[in-house]
Amino acid sequence: MLPARARAADAPSSGERQVALPPLPYPYNALEPVIDTATMKLHHDKHLATYVTKLNAALASIGGGAPAAYPAILASLDGIADGAQRVQVRNNGGGVANHVQFFESLRAPRRNNRPSGGGRLAAAIDATFGSFEQFQGQFAAAARSLFGSGWVWLYRVNNDDDGGRRAGELAIGQFANQDSPLMMTKSERGVRGGGGGGAPPTPILGVDCWEHAYYLKYGPKRGEYVDAWWSVVNWDAVERVYETRA
Ligand code: MN
Repeated sequence: MLPARARAADAPSSGERQVALPPLPYPYNALEPVIDTATMKLHHDKHLATYVTKLNAALASIGGGAPAAYPAILASLDGIADGAQRVQVRNNGGGVANHVQFFESLRAPRRNNRPSGGGRLAAAIDATFGSFEQFQGQFAAAARSLFGSGWVWLYRVNNDDDGGRRAGELAIGQFANQDSPLMMTKSERGVRGGGGGGAPPTPILGVDCWEHAYYLKYGPKRGEYVDAWWSVVNWDAVERVYETRA
């Protein structure tokens, strides 16, 4: 099965003029009891659907463009001259891309859930963070301490940067609203994630820290949601992202 991102991107070549709402890649109850059915229905059918609708309106406002190009547009938002239009593409394009990747990165809960032992991603995590447990600790701390609504992403730095990081290293970052590593400006990349230009960072794994992602079940206890979320990460899918996009 093609990933949903590819399906959305393929839509125009089949004659469609708009980004389509990708189906959830598993039943609504697949992540129970960690993420409840009601949350998944709202999250996919209402929140993601709304981002898709508004992204199509935003793309139309900047002259139509090819809906397939929207992930690339996110990496070059400075190319949209009108500030209001740029915000609409940023928020709603991010809302689509982030949720598609997030839903694809999850599966039914497993014990001792972690990347496969001899894999490239596991090796990269060990090289950057020391161990998988240290990575988990840093990532969860970033998710707990993120102020307001946003995401925490594990991403691959694709350019040497001013902070001494080298292309190929992994990094953890907090991102407000529907931003992602893809959308980091060139000046932001100089500080965090990739030199003065070139390829944007590659988002590898993100956790949705908006209240709509967890409030029905966890209330204000975002830390409990994140602790439980580790068991539903689909490391096979995350490794595929790392192998094919990074
Ligand atoms: Mn969300």
